Formats: sequence, C-alpha cells, structure tokens
Amino acid sequence: MATDFRSLIPTLSYRNQAFIGGKYVPAASGETFDCVSPIDGRVLTKVAACDLEDVNRAVAAARAVFEKGSWSACHPGKRKKVMLKFAELMQKHKDELALLETLDMGKPISTSAGGDIPGSIQAIQWYAEAADKVYDEIAPYRPDSVSLITREPIGVVAAVVPWNYPLLMTSWKLGPALATGNSVIIKPAEQSPLTALRIAELAMEAGLPEGVLQVLPGFGETAGQALGRHMDVDMIAFTGSTQVGKYFLRYAGESNMKHVSLETGGKSPNIVFADAGDLNHIAKTSADGVFFNAGQSCNAPTRILVQDTIKDEFIALIAKHAKPWAPSDPLDPNTTMGAVVDADQMNRVLGYIESGRSEGATVTAGGSQVRKDTGGAYIEPTVFSDVKNDMKIAQEEIFGPVVVAVTFRDEAEAVRLANDSIYGLQANLWTRDVSRAHKVARQLKAGTVVVNNVWGSDITNPFGGYKQSGIGRDKSLHAMDKYCQVKNTYIQL
Ligand code: NAD
Repeated sequence: MATDFRSLIPTLSYRNQAFIGGKYVPAASGETFDCVSPIDGRVLTKVAACDLEDVNRAVAAARAVFEKGSWSACHPGKRKKVMLKFAELMQKHKDELALLETLDMGKPISTSAGGDIPGSIQAIQWYAEAADKVYDEIAPYRPDSVSLITREPIGVVAAVVPWNYPLLMTSWKLGPALATGNSVIIKPAEQSPLTALRIAELAMEAGLPEGVLQVLPGFGETAGQALGRHMDVDMIAFTGSTQVGKYFLRYAGESNMKHVSLETGGKSPNIVFADAGDLNHIAKTSADGVFFNAGQSCNAPTRILVQDTIKDEFIALIAKHAKPWAPSDPLDPNTTMGAVVDADQMNRVLGYIESGRSEGATVTAGGSQVRKDTGGAYIEPTVFSDVKNDMKIAQEEIFGPVVVAVTFRDEAEAVRLANDSIYGLQANLWTRDVSRAHKVARQLKAGTVVVNNVWGSDITNPFGGYKQSGIGRDKSLHAMDKYCQVKNTYIQL
C-alpha cells in the first residue's frame, strides 16, 4: 500500500461536536464522552454527548429546510450534482477517512482503505446517478382519467447506525435518502462517531443546503431513543441489533407511527454438501467470510452446516484457514484481522466462547484473548466443532471471530437446520448439483442466498433480512422506495 498511514496520525484533527444546521456545535448540556481506540485503549478525543435538546434542534433544522424545498423540491439533477461533488470530496479525503475509521473501531487499515471508504464513496455516487434517472408511473386506469403514481420524499429521516462498518452503513442510508430529497439526521454508534462527523462538512462544501444533513453523536438510550420517539421525525432507518430494532418499533408505536426500516442481526448458515467439490477452496472462502472484519459482519457465514461424511476433513480445513487471520496491529498494511470494537464487545465474545465450552462444544482452533500487552481488544480466530444447532453459540449472534460447525445427514435436515434460527439475513450453500442448488435456495428463509460462495454483496443488489433480521432493504434501487411516500393522484379528464 502506497500511503504511510501511521505518518498521517499527527496531522489528524478530530471533529468531535454535533453537526446541526450546517455548523459544528457542542451538546446543549456541554456533556462529552471519551472516544476510545480499541487498538490500544487510547482516548482519541472527547465527543459531544447529544440528548433530547440536541435532537429537538436537529429535527427543527431538518424540518425547516425540508419545508423550504431547497433540497426536497429542487430539480433532481441538482441533487445529483451536489452528491457527486460530495463523493468527489470524500475521495479527496479518502486516506484521512480510512485512518479515522481504523483508529476509531480497530479494523485493519487495508480494509478501511480498500473496502469501507471506497464502498461508501460508491454508494453516494451510485444514488447520485440514480437521482435523475428513476421515473414515476402512470397507472393503467380508466380512459377518462389519469392516475399518477408519484414518489415524494418522506421528510425528516433519522439514520441510526452501528459501529461495524460505520461510514459504509451511514452511506447506504444517506445515499438513497438524500437522492430522494429527504433531510437526514445521522446518529452514529457511540463507539465510532468520527467519520460521520467528518463527512458532514464535506457535504456542506459540496453544496448541500444547511439543515439537510445533521450528525448527532451520543448514546443509544439518550440520542437514539429521543430520535425514535420524536413526533416530528418521519422515518427511522436503523442498522444494528435485533433487540434495539425492536425498541424502534416500540418507540414508533408509542409516538407518531413513523416509518421504521430495520437491518438487524444474522446467524447465517453456510451449508456444505458432500458433493460440493474442492473442500480446500470452500473452507478458505468460508474462513475468509467469517473472520473478515473480525467476524463483526451481520451476514458473516458463522454457522457452518456440513454433511456428516465430510465433516472431519472440512473442520480441519477451516481450522487451517483460520490461522492467517491471527490478529495483529490494525495500522500494519499486512494485517488481516485487527481489534474488535471495544473491551465490552471483546468480553461479550469471550463470554460466548466460554458458554460454548460449557455446553460441550469443542474448541478446534483459537478461543482466547491475545495481544493483551497492547491495551487493545483482540481475540483469536476461533472454530467450534461438536456443536448442536440448539446451543447458544449456534443460535445467538456472537459478532466476533467465532465460527461454529454443526453436522447434517441429508438435504432435508440441512434445510431444517438452516431455517432453525430467529434470523434470516443471508444463507450460503455449496453444491455441484444445479438442481439441488435451486431447490435448496428456494427453501431457505433469507434475504440473500449465495450459492458456491459466501460473498454476494454489491451496491446494485438489495440487502436485508427475513424474520428477525429486519424489515426493508438497503442498497439497489429498491432502497429508494423506502425513503419515499407513494402518492396516487387521480385526474378526471
Ligand atoms: P446496537 O443495536 O447496539 O446499536 C446500533 C445503534 O443503535 C447505535 O447507534 C446505538 O447507539 C443505537 N442504540 C443502542 N441502544 C439504543 C436504544 N435503547 N434506543 C435507541 N438507539 C439505541 O448494534 P451495534 O452493537 O452497534 O451493531 C451490531 C449489530 O448490528 C449486530 O447485531 C449486527 O448484526 C447488526 N448489523 C446489521 C446489518 C444489516 O444490514 N442487517 C449490518 C451491520 C450490522
């Protein structure tokens, strides 16, 4: 990698105040919280801890510009131009954004610089391009009438996002919400507020009118809940845990029945049939899918379902391919796995590892905290075998570098086990039998099914879950609909 990221650290200045009405401002209470790097436990900066009063100010600013119409009712071509400029400015500052992401949440710099930041820029660009290319409709109605089906921006959208891909999750929401003309308030996770705060001023520099974008750092129970319960927020676009997703449904029900879209957890099955072919390749791809981002991916293939006749060979191969994912310094360009997001998350993951042991599963690889001397939060890539699908480690989302392997006898049992989960975000299956691939894919209750791979994500494809993995879809043109009201206008001729 050409950029020497370590040498850039002294040049960084952290945006640590809320961004409301086009300006950085302290929280009304003056309260702050420590922004801690999981790389070494160091406090990077103190960030404004927003609460109800800040939410009120941000919503008022967002509403005022929405009603004025300078963004919500402008020519879509103007939105395209501003958003393309915004993406261009993100590109200009890509190294800084990548470094902020890595310092803030501990992922390897190669991942931030090679995946998260380019993906975020692409999302803004892609929806910018879509802004003036998506047409409304005329219904096939009576010949003496015209029935128009038009899309209008919903209004004030609050995007409450997690820490695992901070800027990417933000951009998946910001892109379609801005392209369709909404005012947006971003509430980044308290573990990772820095990139969302930084891009706010880039959006202004690109020409976004004041008030169209607010960023409110703060805690879930305070800032997040205040947005969820606000009577003048029209929509919550949420990515995070299933538990908090349910809170947002409750907040909406107890306030103004705002729209709620949810991208929540996952425990994605990865079914390996005995006829799948090159087991070494499958095991490597599967291990890469699990341990990428230290297992902190909602769609990670963390639940291997392997046919009993190949289980010993396959589990040994997974353990072999886990090894190159040993955690190391996130700022080293050769590092594959960095820290997990913070000490709390590390202890949660270690708790699951303990629970797997005590329920009788076997730790085939890893299983411990490492690099303790750094002061950071690091866990070895961990593989469990002898797992039953009803064990806690097979049912709950661990959200760390841990994969479990359950065995099955035949196709029917594979499908039953795959669907035996509260989640339905993604399912993966490996087979050389094309008919089996189609048959099984149809039976899997998941928003995304990937056959003979575990990677299937692209901005062009819709992403979201069945069951308790969520409501609605991010990405692709499908995402634009959820940021719009659909209006029907009949005109009698
Ligand atoms: P989380 O649910 O704890 O937090 C997500 C956001 O919700 C944060 O901004 C947080 O501050 C806020 N929040 C927390 N408690 C709240 C409350 N009581 N009221 C209002 N807001 C509250 O999730 P996390 O730990 O940050 O992220 C990990 C989760 O995100 C995992 O479950 C993962 O599967 C999920 N995720 C899902 C997708 C997807 O697309 N389906 C993508 C990425 C992550």
